[in-house]
Amino acid sequence: MFAVLDRTGLLVAYDSWDEWRDECRAAATQEPAPLCACDVVFCAHCWGQARILSPARNGEGLVPRPCPTCAGTGVVRR
Ligand SMILES: [Zn+2]
Repeated sequence: MFAVLDRTGLLVAYDSWDEWRDECRAAATQEPAPLCACDVVFCAHCWGQARILSPARNGEGLVPRPCPTCAGTGVVRR
């Protein structure tokens, strides 16, 4: 039995090198996950920043507030 660090930094225990090779082979043959969902676009109201600057209540400058169009996510679904 031995342990190796996986990609996330966790120790994973294996009973044999064949078990480790099988898991590495399975991970290498998987389709890569997309970085973001295909049906989303950046919010045009906040330009993907998820926040907009609004006048402060006390009148002294601008304060960031969550974007009302994308609910503070920065992306909207098509
Ligand atoms: Zn937005």
